[in-house]
Amino acid sequence: MSLLAGVGLCACASATPGTPAASAAPAASAAPAASAAPAALAASAAVAQPSASAQTKQLPSPPAAPPQELEADCAAARVPRVRDAIERDVRFFADPALDGRAPASAGDETTRAAIAQRLACLGLAPAADDGGYQQAFTVPSGATANVLGVLAGQDPEVGQEIVLVMAHHDHLGAGHLGANDNASGLAAMLAVAKAAAASGPRKRTLAFVAFGAEEQGLLGSAHYLAQPPAALPLGRTVQVVNLDMIGSYSSRRRVYVFGAHAGQRATALLRELDDAYPRTRFALGGHSVRGDHHGFHALGIPYAFFWTPDGRCYHRRCDTAARVDYAPLADIAALASALVLRLADEPPSVTAPAPAAGG
Ligand SMILES: [Zn+2]
Repeated sequence: MSLLAGVGLCACASATPGTPAASAAPAASAAPAASAAPAALAASAAVAQPSASAQTKQLPSPPAAPPQELEADCAAARVPRVRDAIERDVRFFADPALDGRAPASAGDETTRAAIAQRLACLGLAPAADDGGYQQAFTVPSGATANVLGVLAGQDPEVGQEIVLVMAHHDHLGAGHLGANDNASGLAAMLAVAKAAAASGPRKRTLAFVAFGAEEQGLLGSAHYLAQPPAALPLGRTVQVVNLDMIGSYSSRRRVYVFGAHAGQRATALLRELDDAYPRTRFALGGHSVRGDHHGFHALGIPYAFFWTPDGRCYHRRCDTAARVDYAPLADIAALASALVLRLADEPPSVTAPAPAAGG
């Protein structure tokens, strides 16, 4: 097996990477089951598909829900089957009512509220400096935010070390619904958060960050790197995992994991996990520059970036929920969950903390 050698690649582009180190061949699983969007926000989103202004008018205002109401809206967090939960979330975030989640839009606001609600439902602690789940920042079109939650590490020695899982929540808007880019990664990140929360205490701290304004030039991650939350210092961030465009597995019948180079713990762990995930063929190695992981990489923090090519619908209106490969997406989310939980519990010496930078 040989690793994909240092190809510079535009993360969300449909360019062709080199020949990856392949794992065992897969078989596609059954067709996706029908799904339902989160109750509080679904009612208006799912019903009619009236004109844009009517849709905006019908969008529910984000629930500034006090805890007891939140509990009522946690149904989506309890969908048992990973595959159904992921399809439900992709269909929700890529619903025309959210109109592609453009930064500072009504759809963006509802998306961020739904993510914050989910993190709270799963029992993750808010990690923004104002005590909430949203790290606000502005873009030319107005106010938006990163949404972040944390599961504190329990180990006296490495409990402060942070493994950060990310997925950008925004897309282009204006009829570009961004199901693969990046409702797929967002749904998978929420599935990993759910698996982590359900798995009990871990040695290291796990942080989950849905970055905003990625499509406008990685603006959310740039803001985070410039003003890291006090609860998540960069100097203690030892690994990042980025999930972006992982809903088009059938395009190459594999998922690429960029940044997983020889000698890195994540690479060794993925190789160890290979046999346990026979349906998911993955290619390790290579380098991608234009994803939210890039700024972390520049600080010397190891990254593993999960991505599937999408030459047909990348940044086009055909990137809709109907064409997402849900079964492989659920498998990729399960593989990413296994990797993250292993990284969280690795012995101390394995993941040396990044050089002190900004935190
Ligand atoms: Zn993307």
